[in-house]
Amino acid sequence: MGERRETSLDRIFDLAIIGGGVNGCGIARDAAGRGNSVFLCEMNDLASGTSSWSTKLVHGGLRYLEYYEFRLVREALIEREILWQIAPHIIRPLRFVLPHHNGLRPAWLLRLGLFLYDHIGGRNLLPPTRSVDLSRDEVGKPLIANRYVKGFEYSDCFVDDARLVVLTARDAADRGAEIHTRARAVEIRQVDGIWHVTVEDTLSGVRKTINARALVNAGGPWVEDVLASGAGVNARAKVRLVQGSHIVVRKLYAHDRAYMFQNSDGRIVFVIPYQDDFTLIGTTDRDYDGDPAKVKASAEEIKYLCDSVSEYLTNPVTPEDVVWTYSGVRPLYDDGASEAKAATRDYVFELDTPGGAPLLSIYGGKITTYRRLAEEALERLSPYLRSAKAREGWTGKSPLPGGDMDVSAVSALTAELIRNYPFLSTAHASRLAHAYGTRATKLLGNAKSLVDLGQAFGATLTESEVRYLMANEWACTAEDVVWRRSKLGLRLSAVETAALDARTRHANGGWHPDHPRCLADARARHPERAVGPDAVGQDLDHAVARRSRQTDIRARPGRRQGCHRLRCAAAFGGDGLPAVHQLSLLDRL
Ligand SMILES: Cc1cc2nc3c(=O)[nH]c(=O)nc-3n(C[C@H](O)[C@H](O)[C@H](O)COP(=O)(O)OP(=O)(O)OC[C@H]3O[C@@H](n4cnc5c(N)ncnc54)[C@H](O)[C@@H]3O)c2cc1C
Repeated sequence: MGERRETSLDRIFDLAIIGGGVNGCGIARDAAGRGNSVFLCEMNDLASGTSSWSTKLVHGGLRYLEYYEFRLVREALIEREILWQIAPHIIRPLRFVLPHHNGLRPAWLLRLGLFLYDHIGGRNLLPPTRSVDLSRDEVGKPLIANRYVKGFEYSDCFVDDARLVVLTARDAADRGAEIHTRARAVEIRQVDGIWHVTVEDTLSGVRKTINARALVNAGGPWVEDVLASGAGVNARAKVRLVQGSHIVVRKLYAHDRAYMFQNSDGRIVFVIPYQDDFTLIGTTDRDYDGDPAKVKASAEEIKYLCDSVSEYLTNPVTPEDVVWTYSGVRPLYDDGASEAKAATRDYVFELDTPGGAPLLSIYGGKITTYRRLAEEALERLSPYLRSAKAREGWTGKSPLPGGDMDVSAVSALTAELIRNYPFLSTAHASRLAHAYGTRATKLLGNAKSLVDLGQAFGATLTESEVRYLMANEWACTAEDVVWRRSKLGLRLSAVETAALDARTRHANGGWHPDHPRCLADARARHPERAVGPDAVGQDLDHAVARRSRQTDIRARPGRRQGCHRLRCAAAFGGDGLPAVHQLSLLDRL
């Protein structure tokens, strides 16, 4: 955060937001679109918290009907189709099969619940529930023969959760919001009715204080830590951290439907076709009291999930089949429920106005309701915001970046990409269409062949895409690219990921982590690259050799420094980044 950053940050923002998960970014987008000046800081990467560890369902939550959460279910069901329409590239409809057996409630009661689910609100485009004869229908084939005869099939949607966050942030930034990643809020305090938020650049340790009229604490599992960093803040609500883990195995069956299995302990496990060649299984539900950043699927949870689905499937799933796991914690509002699975998934706001200026803290919520949550947050804050448009909700009608198309148009977009870029394989075009929607052409540009897309990292990931992600979506590290902007980590080999990592970490080798010096050093050492297209990495062979001796991206010390180097390189090289982004990269130095 050098001199230029001070210029852009040296003002009183209408709204500052701590936390770049789905809720923080949703509020940033909504507020910026209403004409407010917005600052958002995220201490790691966007969606690096709970928002990339979900089951990825845009759903009403059928089982919440059992807890009489009708308002939550209705609101979420209404949101389901709204979100699908504003982001049809990253959200798709998904049919769920619910096999019936004697351990469940009577079939007529389930049918009634599903009738309610179909009609309680918001289902206009998705097909309704139907009964299924599992002994004849193809969806019965993967199930243990003769044990499950009757079932139901109902609709919900599936979302790329991490991309939802990033595209929401992108839209917020397009509307003027300042989005800062790797920037941790370390202190909040109020002076004369203005919030002062001290933000530390986690790469350099440099601190900067920004000012805002209103403050949102969207810290997710860290919501109470944020409050603890403030003087004179009253934190009344309590957060309950509930861990949920998922496993990914190779594709278990050929059809495209998901399953909802209910276990004897009353918990639900979803089995979902994932990333074309895989199956996602989750989730667990248990209280968690450790560091949210260190949450990890335990051997016990992995076994539980394998055993649970093996109760239903002809071919049992074992821990040896697991190719990837992930785990996250829900930052739920502590409503005193005795069991983790029964704690409310509804969101709760805590509005504190210690010295006159508001601090809105967010507890709980779902990916599904993030847009509505943002609207409600803005409604709560509107008396304190200056913007003339502060009362108008708009986000449900305006597509997210790349989502400006009909809900059924993604296949047509894939076909169009193949027509215009005949060198793309169907899988490549389809992946780009689903990740970037109509913006896919921005990263493909005038390419006439795969070679024009630059270095190929494997699994259809090319240099053009990595550059696009760095320039437009705040990606800094290989991990950002392969686990959040995409899930290509499932397909890339260790050596391929190492090449990408090397590309990002060792670009223009030997950058000094000190921000202002970085750019000067770069220019002095490599003047020839100042105008070249390839400033993001030259020492690849050397770096790959080094990197292939290391496997765990997350555990490696110095990752942040590498990310910083990448940014410096990108800023230095002027490598095709849009002017606005180059400015923000330079600002950061
Ligand atoms: C296992 C599991 C399954 C789920 N499944 C679903 C589902 O299928 N459908 C659904 O709708 N919902 C689901 N959810 C719920 C949903 O994922 C969460 O409600 C949602 O992601 C919470 O978003 P958030 O923005 O509040 O928190 P987060 O995504 O955790 O974001 C908070 C961010 O704040 C940042 N931060 C914290 N402190 C600071 C600081 N001091 N300075 C700067 N940044 C800071 C963190 O780094 C983090 O990125 C699931 C949750 C879990 C755990």
